[in-house]
This record gives sequence, structure tokens and C-alpha cells, in this order.
Amino acid sequence: MEMKIISTIINPIPDEEGFHVFQCDKCNKHFLIAPLDLNENTDFYCPYCGEAGGYMTFTKSIRKNIFKDHPSSIKTENVETFENNDFDIDKIQELLENLKENPMDVEVLEYSIAEVVNEDELTKYEFICCEKIIKIPFENFEEVKFCPFCKGEILLNVIE
Ligand SMILES: [Zn+2]
Ligand SMILES: [Zn+2]
Repeated sequence: MEMKIISTIINPIPDEEGFHVFQCDKCNKHFLIAPLDLNENTDFYCPYCGEAGGYMTFTKSIRKNIFKDHPSSIKTENVETFENNDFDIDKIQELLENLKENPMDVEVLEYSIAEVVNEDELTKYEFICCEKIIKIPFENFEEVKFCPFCKGEILLNVIE
């Protein structure tokens, strides 16, 4: 029997420390935050330009590229895809659990951070105001201007 996909979801895989990769939809730069540090119903901020966003807004362009890089293996005429715009990471986990009961309804594309940024070039950046750490590509170090958790302004970036 031909499998019919009614939806494709994208499941981000965190790095070994639990960080997920995000991309600002305004300045297009990448940053990594551990979801444990985020309040799931509250927006957080791009550390570079201060744009407010959430799991979906800050992964939109990543998801778009993942779709492009991983075309469905199912024949096009049998695939009906819609974007799941209201999923946060918990809801994706829930859906993955449900898949066990209904395996033909959903295709899952998983992606790792390595598909989005060069992991070897990531560096940790600590925000003293909130006592939290994010990861950023090293080349963007001097461009960090805001704490993603409280939007507090960073006045000086010192590379030690
Ligand atoms: Zn930005
Ligand atoms: Zn802060």
C-alpha cells in the first residue's frame, strides 16, 4: 500500500549540551539557546538585533532550508504537506509520541545543528544579567548587542 503523507514535521535535534539552533528572521544570524532556559510561552530576543520571536519565528528559515535539502522520498502526487506553524518543541515531542499509533500520517524530517552551522566554530557567550549562556558562531562575537532573555543591552564585548 502506498503511504500517504498528510503532514511533514521537522524535528530539531539538540547538541550534546541541549542547545537548539535558531536563526533570526530579521538579521539572518544564528544563535543557540537551550530550551530549558526559555519560558515556552514568552518571546525571546535575537542577541544581535533585538528582534522578538519564538520557536517558530526563529526557526522559519531553517525549516525552509531543511525542506529544500531533504525532498520527500514519497511521490509528489501522494504528498500533501502543510506547515505546522504552532508547534513548539514540546508539541513536536508529543506528536512524535503519537506517531507510534498512527505511523502513516506524518513524515518526520530530523535535522542536526551541523546542517545549519559549523559546530566547530561555535563559542559560548554568557549573559551576566540573567546568568545564562548561549552559543554563537565565533565570527559574530562582537555583534552581540542584547541579552536574548531580558533584552538587556550589552555595552562592550571583550574577547579574552
Ligand atoms: Zn536579529
Ligand atoms: Zn538578561
